[in-house]
Amino acid sequence: MSTKFTPAEAADILIETARGFYAKRWMEGTSGNLSIRIRSDEMDAPLRYLITASGHDKGALTANDFVLVGEGGQVLEPAGAKSSAETLLHEAIYQLHEEATAVYHVHTLAATYLSMHAVEPEGVLTFSDLEMIKGLGFDTHEVAIRLPAIENNQDMILLSQEVLRRLEPFVPGFILKGHGVYTWGRTPAEAKRHVEIWEFLFQYRMMAWVTAVNPQANLLLNRM
Ligand SMILES: [Zn+2]
Repeated sequence: MSTKFTPAEAADILIETARGFYAKRWMEGTSGNLSIRIRSDEMDAPLRYLITASGHDKGALTANDFVLVGEGGQVLEPAGAKSSAETLLHEAIYQLHEEATAVYHVHTLAATYLSMHAVEPEGVLTFSDLEMIKGLGFDTHEVAIRLPAIENNQDMILLSQEVLRRLEPFVPGFILKGHGVYTWGRTPAEAKRHVEIWEFLFQYRMMAWVTAVNPQANLLLNRM
């Protein structure tokens, strides 16, 4: 499956997607970054993708709040613009997954909390037995999904190398500890679905865990 978008079309999709995620409180305080690959008809065309620029309110993005990026995180347009610090993580995913057309990254409360308090000794969060797992591309709920949980690092070169080392086959995502989740899809719609599925799984785990300790605590979870 190959999906093509012009930079203008990609911006329209990302504006709408970011607005929706912001409304769910998944991109607060200008956090997170979203990108769409810009494909070319040329053979072996270099990687290009449109990504949200740093520091803009994700609930009110405009067509001017994006940058077109090439290999090595190089900003192609507009001249002099600054891309997100996490651009190299998007690039790592696009390089590894040729089929990926969109990479979405959000900072949610549940993802941040679980990544600090529920990571298993093997460095993963495991999800199983839930029907919603099928939304990640599996045929059955009877699988154990291992989501890599990776130490956060402000050195994006080291971090992207670690991400590539830790990715699990067939699992579209990873979580950065104390930070947020990354996922991707063959289409922007699939990447959006993956964000929604991961967040459902995180909220389920939060609720199951906290209410096991304190049956009244689910009242506190209404914020999410
Ligand atoms: Zn981030």
